[in-house]
Amino acid sequence: MGNDVDGTAKDTLRQAEEEVITLASELIRIDSTNTGDPDTVVGERAAAEYVAAQLADVGYDTTYVESGNGMKGRGNVFARLEGADPSRPALLVHGHLDVVPADASEWSVHPFSGAVQDDYVWGRGAVDMKDMVAMTLATARRLKRDGIVPPRDIVFAFLADEEAGGMHGAQWLVDNRPELFDGCTEAIGEVGGFSITVKDGVRAYLIETAEKGIAWMRLRVRGRAGHGSMLTDDNSVTRLSEAVARLGRHRFPLVMTDSVREFLAAITELTGLEFPEDDIDGAVAKLGGLARIIGATLRDTANPTMLNAGYKANVIPSSAEAVVDCRILPGRQPAFERELDEILGPDVEREWIANLPALETSFDGPLVDTMSASIMAEDPGAKVVPYMLSGGTDAKAFDRLGIRCFGFAPLKLPADLDFSALFHGVDERVPVEALQFGTRVLDRFLRHS
Ligand SMILES: [Zn+2]
Repeated sequence: MGNDVDGTAKDTLRQAEEEVITLASELIRIDSTNTGDPDTVVGERAAAEYVAAQLADVGYDTTYVESGNGMKGRGNVFARLEGADPSRPALLVHGHLDVVPADASEWSVHPFSGAVQDDYVWGRGAVDMKDMVAMTLATARRLKRDGIVPPRDIVFAFLADEEAGGMHGAQWLVDNRPELFDGCTEAIGEVGGFSITVKDGVRAYLIETAEKGIAWMRLRVRGRAGHGSMLTDDNSVTRLSEAVARLGRHRFPLVMTDSVREFLAAITELTGLEFPEDDIDGAVAKLGGLARIIGATLRDTANPTMLNAGYKANVIPSSAEAVVDCRILPGRQPAFERELDEILGPDVEREWIANLPALETSFDGPLVDTMSASIMAEDPGAKVVPYMLSGGTDAKAFDRLGIRCFGFAPLKLPADLDFSALFHGVDERVPVEALQFGTRVLDRFLRHS
């Protein structure tokens, strides 16, 4: 077990609770927009250097790594805190430094102002995920400052390029610098640990135990080129459009994974709300803002997102293309592909342009117990509940190293805050109190993991 907190240590925990606000605000002020286009990505290096300086300031040795491939400025930072028992495997705590773009004209405050007002820290990255980066930094600094030795090694990783798939961050590091994760068998990162208020002020904290797979697919139909004025029975645009429409309207079957089943059972227990299999979508819709995420974890989805064909109004092109964003439940890839082929038919070619598999772990064991105890110590009466994220995170890369990944970035949120809408949303912001709560939970969690 970790050290107990004596009087002095409590004071420095308070210092961490103050620091976390400044850290979150200053991180947001570093514009680290990841457009997905390597030529226009900015700020990751500055954010990484900021993080490294904060760690070095209290005595950490840091490792700064940029991905290769001729890419400059894709900064990643690592630091390790030695634990009491070197024979135990290490815990990875990871966060990404990049953010998605923000259009300042749509915001109430400038998205890169890091404004602290109305009890919130405002700006792009406030919940995705400079909040967790700031909480991790504040906690890492507090542990080092106080000479607290955690039960086992902790590896802190601050990463580039998550918002564009991690090809210059987590995925690249796992392929090229796996030694940086030596000994890590478990990890925490985004997107989980936040609260929803279920009934009479009772909060459930959602721990991410699973993620859908991300599979981007290109479709191509080949036909006969010809003059737009003449009769044709082999128009690639027509045939592709039909296939895309069939797929876009198709509803994949309801498949209950363990994470979703456990989540729904816990909600039933807490609220009495039932989720009958014949109207599960209707029941899930009653979950408010969260229905956007949970609803998407009941089945595979395939949303057409891009179309491309033709170059002149009177020329029938010889081929037409589309891109479809497929999100696949754990264990469903082969069945999904069979269903896909049936819907598309034999004349539509398909290829994966990205395919990051789904992941799922069980909601049990000592690490889960420690998450639960750490939350409960700060919010007695709360309940922790596993859930599946409909999107993907850097956990997909660490899963390839056999690391068991959880989404655990603890935040106690006001009941009326539409949290899921803030991700990549306008007026992204995080409550000051939530950051302080998260810092206390993370501190306890790391001292006892
Ligand atoms: Zn994120």
